[in-house]
Amino acid sequence: MSDFASPYWFTEQCDKTGSAFSLRVKNKIVEKQSQFQKIEIYQTTDFGYLMVLDGCTMVSSRENFFYHEMMSHPALFTHPKPQNVVVIGGGDCGTLKEVLKHTSVEAATQIDIDELVTDMAKRYFPELCESNQDPRAQIIFGDGIKFMHDALPESLDIIIVDSTDPVGPSEGLYDYAFYQSCLNALKPDGILVQQSESPILHQKLIKEMREAMLEVGFSNLQTIIFPQPIYPSGLWSCTLAKKQGDFGEFRHKDAAEMSNNCEYYSPVVHQAAMRLPNFLKKSL
Ligand code: SAM
Repeated sequence: MSDFASPYWFTEQCDKTGSAFSLRVKNKIVEKQSQFQKIEIYQTTDFGYLMVLDGCTMVSSRENFFYHEMMSHPALFTHPKPQNVVVIGGGDCGTLKEVLKHTSVEAATQIDIDELVTDMAKRYFPELCESNQDPRAQIIFGDGIKFMHDALPESLDIIIVDSTDPVGPSEGLYDYAFYQSCLNALKPDGILVQQSESPILHQKLIKEMREAMLEVGFSNLQTIIFPQPIYPSGLWSCTLAKKQGDFGEFRHKDAAEMSNNCEYYSPVVHQAAMRLPNFLKKSL
C-alpha cells in the first residue's frame, strides 16, 4: 500500500506548536482504523519501520530506545527494590521489555486499550516484543483508567504511564482522578512515571500535571528530559512522582551493570537527567 511515488516524506505537522517533523518513507504498509485510533505502519528509508497513531509518530525501529529506557530505568533504579510494576498504555511493548530487564521485578503488567497496537508491534517491531513470553509478564487489553481505579490499595511499586498525547482515550490518564487512583495503588515508597510531552513545546501541560500530582498528595516530583528524535521538537520528558519522601540516591552499581545492556541509559545519563536545565527550572 502506498499513497505516493516512492520514496516520499511522512510529515507530522503540529499546527498548534508551529512545527513539523518528517521521515522519508518507501512505503505505507498498513492503514487500519481500530475502535480507538488510526494505526499506520510505514517502511522508512533510514529509520526502519515507523508506527503512527492518529497522525502522530509513536515508534521507529531506529531510535525508540531513548524513550523506552528513560521511561523505565530512572524510576526502577531509584526504587530500592521494584517488584510489582504496571505499564499503562505502552502497547508496542518496548517499555515492558525494559522493565523486565530488572531481576528484582516479579510481576510486570501492561494494560493497553488497543490490541491492534500490540498486534502491529509483534509483526513490525518483534525486537520490542521479545520479552512478552517472560513468565513475569502479563499483557491485558483494557482501559488503564479503570484498571487503576480498581487496583488494590498499596499493591504496586512502580506505575509507568506510557500513553499517547492527552486527547481521545488517553485524556483521562492526565487528570486529578487518575493520579489519585495511582497514589492509592502505590506502596509508600512507590513511584509514578508519566510521559510528559515536549519540555520545549508543552511547558504548560507539564506545569499543570505537576500541580495536579502535588495536589493529590505525591510528596516529590522530578521531571527528566531526554532526546526523542522523532517526536515534536526532538526533546521529550517524563515526570516521576514519589508517593512518600525524597527520591534520594539511585542504585548506582545496579544501574552501571544494566547499562551494558542499554543503548542510552547509564548512571551518568541518569544523574544528568535528574538535573533540570535552567530554561525548564524557570518555567516549572
Ligand atoms: N511513546 C508514545 C508517545 O509518547 O507519544 C506513546 C506510546 S503508544 C504505545 C501509547 C499507547 O497508549 C497506545 O498504544 C494507546 O492505545 C494507549 N492508550 C491510550 N489511552 C489509553 C487508556 N485509556 N488505557 C490504556 N491504554 C491507552
